[in-house]
Amino acid sequence: MTESAKRLKDLVDGSDNIVFFGGAGVSTESGIPDFRSEDGLYRQQYDYPPETILSHTFYESKPEEFFRFYRAKLLAPDAKPNAAHRKLAELEKRGKLKAVITQNIDGLHQAAGSLTVLELHGSVLRNYCESCGKAYEFAFMLSSRGVPHCAACGGRVKPDVVLYEEGLDMDTMERAARYIAEADMLIIGGTSLNVYPAAGLIRWYQGHKLVIINKSPVAADLSADLVINDSIGETLDQI
Ligand code: ZN
Repeated sequence: MTESAKRLKDLVDGSDNIVFFGGAGVSTESGIPDFRSEDGLYRQQYDYPPETILSHTFYESKPEEFFRFYRAKLLAPDAKPNAAHRKLAELEKRGKLKAVITQNIDGLHQAAGSLTVLELHGSVLRNYCESCGKAYEFAFMLSSRGVPHCAACGGRVKPDVVLYEEGLDMDTMERAARYIAEADMLIIGGTSLNVYPAAGLIRWYQGHKLVIINKSPVAADLSADLVINDSIGETLDQI
């Protein structure tokens, strides 16, 4: 066990109200690419940057192109939970962890067994007809072609994912703020804290066990009590 993992384990052992706040880095270790990353291949396949395609305006004006990107970049049917997802689920089962707050939309925390998961940006596992509200599963979106339409009424089926320009669910935001405010330990993992609303939410934390686990240094390392610049899966696997 590394020295920093040992310090993390000591903090976890002494806590019974842990909250985890996670970002894209938690999922990249399950093979889900960060959709924001543009490489050469990306430029051959798409005429717009990801932030443009995943905006509400683009969804309304070029839905065909939106869903082409969506299926290729946001749906990852073969992704499995990794060591980080599994450890967090185990900590919840042991009564130590109270909530996972995530910016990811892949449902992998629930797949690993976590029960209290606050999805700030929604989930690709939920989809609804914009006209009649009928719910559609992940498999429907995966197998549909072009713009998916409701079998019951013909309306367009929209993923329950928060697009750029769209507001976050206030109820989820308030619950997340409350969990963080009451936590005795806050672990932030796999995020550079640059993506809204991460930076604002963690200001609610009032405790003295703030841990940041991220492969690259975080912009504002806040006044973290422990910073681990390493893989989140490998780190949590050691404790
Ligand atoms: Zn419908």
